[in-house]
Amino acid sequence: MKYYVWTEGCQMNVADSQRVSSGLESLGYTATTRPGEASVIVLNTCVVRQSAEDKACGRLNSLAPLKKANPNLVINLMGCLVGIRTPDKLKERFPYVDVFSPPSDPGPLLAFLTQDEVRARQEDETRQRHAWMDEDLPLPAAEHGHLVSAHIPVVLGCSHACTYCIIPYRRGAERSRPAMEIIKEARSLVRQGVKEITLLGQIVDRYGLDDPSLPNLTGLLTELNAIDGLERIRFLTSHPNWMTDELLEAVASLQKVCPHIEVPIQAGDDEVLANMKRGYTVEQYRRLVEKLRTVIPGVSIATDIIVGFPGETAEQFQHTHDLLADLKMDVAHLARYSPREGTVSARRMIDDVPAEEKMRRFRLLEDLQEHIAAEIHARYLGQTVPVLFEEKVKNRWRGRTTTNKLVFVESSADLRGRVIPVQITWTGPWSMQARLPVGTGGVE
Ligand code: SAH
Repeated sequence: MKYYVWTEGCQMNVADSQRVSSGLESLGYTATTRPGEASVIVLNTCVVRQSAEDKACGRLNSLAPLKKANPNLVINLMGCLVGIRTPDKLKERFPYVDVFSPPSDPGPLLAFLTQDEVRARQEDETRQRHAWMDEDLPLPAAEHGHLVSAHIPVVLGCSHACTYCIIPYRRGAERSRPAMEIIKEARSLVRQGVKEITLLGQIVDRYGLDDPSLPNLTGLLTELNAIDGLERIRFLTSHPNWMTDELLEAVASLQKVCPHIEVPIQAGDDEVLANMKRGYTVEQYRRLVEKLRTVIPGVSIATDIIVGFPGETAEQFQHTHDLLADLKMDVAHLARYSPREGTVSARRMIDDVPAEEKMRRFRLLEDLQEHIAAEIHARYLGQTVPVLFEEKVKNRWRGRTTTNKLVFVESSADLRGRVIPVQITWTGPWSMQARLPVGTGGVE
């Protein structure tokens, strides 16, 4: 019996899909990259922007013929399209979905599949497979194989009320997972060969603050840092208001914690930030960036920016542009504002920046960031930096520096899961190339 998982959206969804996959494997299912040959299809969805929601619905529509050809196929819709309570209108719109699961919860699917009658039908169906098997749907990225880098959700949900954001409505209130559970999971991943762990939360710095019996994020990082065989620890996403000095110092001093911070600014204008209810000013964000750079030498910083928020004037956008030019972040994840059902901005504000203008602002930031990233990367040229290699893509090994820079190396040796100091020989805005030291299997 085979299963197929399609994942869209954030790293939290990637982590959730990994949990579903291991749950299915414990029931005896094996992964396939061909939906047409699967007995169980999981669609793990995202609705953070309208485009993501449209993609999920399109994908769901494309499964209708598969289900018609094979009524024993089990379709599981999961993630933020479903949310914490499945809306009736979703059930009406997609009657061929067998199981609806909230984000981060493989439970409903596993419970459904372990019912005797479903189990019998699935086994039967596997025996008499027929023509619909090779139905052509796009291949997903391989989610299987030897995982070098894994994600662990540590804070579920979110209770911060950014006016544009649908996540709190779909993932529910903020709750931290027990530290023991996280550490056990990390140890088990390391035993399976994982070398790098990324802790996830909408505001990951708030880990433990909702439960006095738990350590805070610094405490959790300290415990994880002691796990033998684990090479690297990362965490995301941060919020400027919750990054304490203690946390910054821990990142600087804990040997396995990587000097890479993901801390969205969203806008570089105080009025827009206030309308977004982000809870900080541009000046406070600037000071945080300065502090990060002082306390954590060589730190790389990624940010998120939304352009075209309701009421954003050309001048306010210019403030964002100028701030980005000035702060020179390593990465900027850019998004064009899209109103999301139920959010404060969708209910109370007018989406008044025209689509073409949003696109224009997006492109301006994209161009600017391309130059900034190229300039930052150029400083790596000729340097020798340790890279953790993850997978081979065509004839090149793909890995990352501690600062999360993508590095490619040509080698015929098996570099998977190894940390090797390499010399950077070429840099561009999105990646770098490097050479292995002599004697490690490099192509000289
Ligand atoms: N708590 C996470 C949120 C993840 S959503 C974080 O702070 O990163 C990822 C990004 O999507 C957000 O940072 C924001 O830049 C963008 N985003 C969220 N809602 C959006 C919307 N309605 N329109 C456009 N972009 C949005």
